[in-house]
Amino acid sequence: MLKIAEEWFAICGGCEVTILDIGEPLLDILEQVEFVHMPVLMDHKYYGQEGEKDKLEIPEADVGLISGSVRTEEHKEILQEMRNKCKTLIALGTCAAFGGIPALSNMYPLEETYDMIFRETKTTEPADTPNQGIPPLTDRVYALSELVKIDLTLPGCPTTPEMVQEALTALIEGKPYALPEKSVCDTCPLIREKKSVTTLKRPLEAVEYTPGQPLDTVRCFMEQGYLCQGPATRAGCIGSSDAPRCIKAYTPCRGCFGPMREKANPMVDMMGALSSIGLNPREIEDRAATFNRFAGAQGRLRPLPKRR
Ligand code: SF4
Ligand code: SF4
Ligand code: SF4
Repeated sequence: MLKIAEEWFAICGGCEVTILDIGEPLLDILEQVEFVHMPVLMDHKYYGQEGEKDKLEIPEADVGLISGSVRTEEHKEILQEMRNKCKTLIALGTCAAFGGIPALSNMYPLEETYDMIFRETKTTEPADTPNQGIPPLTDRVYALSELVKIDLTLPGCPTTPEMVQEALTALIEGKPYALPEKSVCDTCPLIREKKSVTTLKRPLEAVEYTPGQPLDTVRCFMEQGYLCQGPATRAGCIGSSDAPRCIKAYTPCRGCFGPMREKANPMVDMMGALSSIGLNPREIEDRAATFNRFAGAQGRLRPLPKRR
């Protein structure tokens, strides 16, 4: 019986729903695993069920699954305890792997973030930054691998049920599991003509398509002038399907699986990909945030000079 501990930090909960989305095969997996800690499901207290312990404690487990990025000092402490107690530690989803959407706040110093939230928004009564009964925020958002050793990363916002199922099954059977070393483009069935285009359409403009049109008769979105981050994004969202998740819905890739390599810079890779078909990346306002929308930890997004 494989013991699993699960934790969630700065998240939306979508990656936990992905575990449920495994569907029927989850029933077979559940017969072979035991969840010993999972705040989303069970009321396990960190300091003993009656608060009798003076040290944060999580039960020992074979596998630790953590979704979410590190945003508070408490997350940091729990992360360290998960590392101490779990033989294999898995970063579940893009927030855990690369900071995810929460790491967009890395574009602002912490004090500026507090000012924006508590004092400067038009719909908020100005107030002091709360400091009672809540853990302090960290100086910025961290991906898990910046703070502890991570054994396996399952990216995606959310990650895919197929990927979680395959990884858990491999761990149950004692087999290795590795992510594909390919880009979303490598798994995309759209037609690439390698002809240059001159105009980039607005980044959020919807793609034109005929409903039901077979994907292998549609021209690559980027070659049509739509911003698609497939060239700089790791493959894996295809699951058991015949096309990447968004492409199948006639939507360009937004980069949610993060960069293909740990040190890669999606902004640099995307600027190269756009230039190679004649598009000018400088037409995209806020390039750093657009291309690092899901990967702002690990130094990819840093504070900007204050504009106001
Ligand atoms: S990776 Fe996406 S789905 Fe998963 S917790 Fe983060 S925001 Fe939610
Ligand atoms: S750029 Fe987008 S649409 Fe074009 S091949 Fe790559 S993933 Fe497919
Ligand atoms: S196509 Fe891109 S944005 Fe869509 S699920 Fe796949 S990696 Fe994420």
